[in-house]
Amino acid sequence: MKTHVRVLVIGGGVVGVSTLYHLTRKGWTDVALIERSELTAGSTWHAAGLLPLFNMSYTVGQLHKYSVDLYKRLPAETGQDVSFHVTGNLRLATCKERMDEYQKYCGTANTIGVPFEVISPARVKELWPLIELGGSADTPAIIGALYHPHDGHIAPADLTMALRKGARGAGAEIYEHTEALGIERTASGEWQVRTSQGDITAEHLVLATGNYARQSGQLLGLNVPAIPVEHQYIVYDESAELKAYRQGGGRELAVLRESDKSYYLREERLGWILGPYERGAPARFADGVPDWFGRSLFPADLDRLVPHVEAATRRVPALENCGIKDIVNGPISYTPDGSPLIGPAWGLRNVWLNEGHSFGITAAGGSGWQLAEWIVEDEPGIDMLAVDPRRFGAYTGKRYVVKKNEETYRNVFIIHFPDEERPDARPAKTSPVYALVDAKGAVWGQRYGWERANWFAPPGVERTDRWSFRRSNYFEHVGNEARLMRESVGIIDLTPFTKHEVTGAAAESWLDGLVANKVPAKIGRMALCHALTRRGGIRSEFTVTKIAAQHYYVVSAGAAERYDSDYLFKSLPRDGSVGLRNITNTRGCFVLAGPKSREVLAQLTDTPLDNASFPWLTAQTIEAGLAVEVYALRVNFVGALGWELHFPIEYAHHLFDALFEAGKAHGIGMVGMRAMESLRLEKSYRMWGSDMTPDYTPFEAGLDRFVRMNKGPFIGKQALEKQLAAGVPNRFVTLEVHGVTDADPLGNEPLFEPGGRVIGRATSGYYGHCLRKSLAIGYTRAEFAQPGTQLAIEILGERKQATVLRESPYDPDNLDLRA
Ligand SMILES: Cc1cc2nc3c(=O)[nH]c(=O)nc-3n(C[C@H](O)[C@H](O)[C@H](O)COP(=O)(O)OP(=O)(O)OC[C@H]3O[C@@H](n4cnc5c(N)ncnc54)[C@H](O)[C@@H]3O)c2cc1C
Repeated sequence: MKTHVRVLVIGGGVVGVSTLYHLTRKGWTDVALIERSELTAGSTWHAAGLLPLFNMSYTVGQLHKYSVDLYKRLPAETGQDVSFHVTGNLRLATCKERMDEYQKYCGTANTIGVPFEVISPARVKELWPLIELGGSADTPAIIGALYHPHDGHIAPADLTMALRKGARGAGAEIYEHTEALGIERTASGEWQVRTSQGDITAEHLVLATGNYARQSGQLLGLNVPAIPVEHQYIVYDESAELKAYRQGGGRELAVLRESDKSYYLREERLGWILGPYERGAPARFADGVPDWFGRSLFPADLDRLVPHVEAATRRVPALENCGIKDIVNGPISYTPDGSPLIGPAWGLRNVWLNEGHSFGITAAGGSGWQLAEWIVEDEPGIDMLAVDPRRFGAYTGKRYVVKKNEETYRNVFIIHFPDEERPDARPAKTSPVYALVDAKGAVWGQRYGWERANWFAPPGVERTDRWSFRRSNYFEHVGNEARLMRESVGIIDLTPFTKHEVTGAAAESWLDGLVANKVPAKIGRMALCHALTRRGGIRSEFTVTKIAAQHYYVVSAGAAERYDSDYLFKSLPRDGSVGLRNITNTRGCFVLAGPKSREVLAQLTDTPLDNASFPWLTAQTIEAGLAVEVYALRVNFVGALGWELHFPIEYAHHLFDALFEAGKAHGIGMVGMRAMESLRLEKSYRMWGSDMTPDYTPFEAGLDRFVRMNKGPFIGKQALEKQLAAGVPNRFVTLEVHGVTDADPLGNEPLFEPGGRVIGRATSGYYGHCLRKSLAIGYTRAEFAQPGTQLAIEILGERKQATVLRESPYDPDNLDLRA
């Protein structure tokens, strides 16, 4: 066994072996993998091998697409067959909302380039002759289906062996029966891994340990939010009907999913495999996998299976006459949002995770591809925010993860409404004024563990969401909140914002090298600053305020806390010249905005608030009521006169009451996240994570005024120079969508030029309640970005005409902000 390698992968399931394979493809061949048992001994050996291309996530969709393409070429490349049955994949719909979900997905598929068809019941019967189209209470009529002709199923062990062959052929080493038992950092910054067969030192470590993610994370002090859940499938004996169909010349049936009954069904040796996602499946191994488990399975739980078996048998009567050969009940790794953890571990250099895979056979190719790129080139090639391990924070303790993973598992097949908010493990993190906000009728949502009010139900209105892809029960109330902010004054509680304090002699120069804008040099000035990737994409957005000499206050998205904090800490100079503190939980934030906001705040402070004394885009430390040391920032995300008040957290209650008291005469009220979405789209404000991602540079995003090419070096500058020289390929656009009466764009819709070609994608969309227009923002190829250009956008399967507007359709000259 080697004692030193460049990269050591821990875990020999399909995901670990794929990572190894892709590292060799990137030219890194001094790499090795250790496996405590034998390759595929974890979840990989018993997986059903389905490769669904369907995924609502733009990122995960791309990873799956890559995998399916790779698996088709692997046999020729490695000489190892992988038993890829390209059967196609059929997802049934028995209600209109399900069809809406498929149509929404089609938008994503179109932007990624995944081929699909939306088909009629008659075509379903043609493709799947053994199906009952239904029409009774217990077997509802199929109203349509989504068909992917190019995916199917594969043999997971064969796939792993093909990847192994490819990796080994390029020089990678694989050591079976070699368990990682302890990990230590060496003085030179490498990782020394104590294994059952001796020590190996590595520059980089990859954890790909499947069900063992918790305990392997703990070897490094990481609390990895991946805990498996039981998952079962039934293997049936030969089916006479299926045999007759196949002997009659029928082709292998597509993998079938009846989403509304939560199961999948595929052929297996003239019999069937039926896999349900049941209610009540328990999380397992929250404290680690016991030694006795090894390659074992759990006993079958028939009670959980019965409702799905009954539903499947009604839909495919041929199941009735089949005996059951086997029931497989194995652990399947999950994370609280169901997407894997692919990318850097937080707080540790050169430690990478490829964990938490619940569709790991499907995702192995894509996750190995992007992780290898990230390790070798220091950055992934596509936007990986949706799977970055740092999208979760310290709040993902054991009990949280157990509850959320059980919830995610039983909801695999539910309709993924865009406004869905799941109830388990809530409330977890709350602002100090949670009870006060709740008393105002808040209908809560959750992001990064924080409770956030999505909208406010007026007295007498039911405090629930009716989730939908279309305008729903809260539409009118969200509109009233938006108008309150434009016409009078409202408050948004944005306490979850990520907040860092940067101090020290080199604070300014260090920040300046991280971001594209000029960091403010004068006390009381602020700047919107974007940290870029080396390829010039947007990685983070910070509002940087100079509070005092050598003292900056840096605010970023609430959901980016660990992501931004990790980046900032890892980028710190090692000479101690910069101090950095994550002070997220020490300050609350209320946005006080609207034309009356000055009158309201003036009642609480002696600080003059007129334009000359307190201009737009400046900040002051003020007293507000009894609250001291309040950072008042004259900016906001809604495009109104107003202040973000960032106050020491202990004043939250007081300040809340005082603002409401002062605003009474103006009818001050709370404004929720959905109204904020409407307001910010009217101003063409880009949201980090959806409109600003590593896929687009600030020039593409139309953020040119926040880029100072003539200042000193900053990360990403060279890439921007190249882009300027070559021409900026895409441009940010704001669109008015015509003829919408029901379903507004929400993001991830394809954009078409009049000739019908896809020329871009919407990244966000909503109804602009004050403009009374359906709006989308996104990116098109540069030549289609001129105001007045006529395009089309596809919303839930319907093409709508859309006009490119001048940016910031509401108040383009920012008169409200400067009022
Ligand atoms: C019943 C069932 C059906 C499934 N069907 C499908 C499907 O149809 N399609 C699909 O895409 N996915 C499916 N899955 C999920 C799929 O099996 C997993 O997502 C995938 O196998 C995960 O692969 P992995 O490499 O991450 O983990 P694993 O296969 O579990 O591999 C992890 C490996 O790490 C090793 N290891 C752990 N700790 C150490 C250590 N300290 N030192 C050395 N080695 C270590 C383990 O021994 C293990 O071999 C199914 C899962 C189940 C349970």
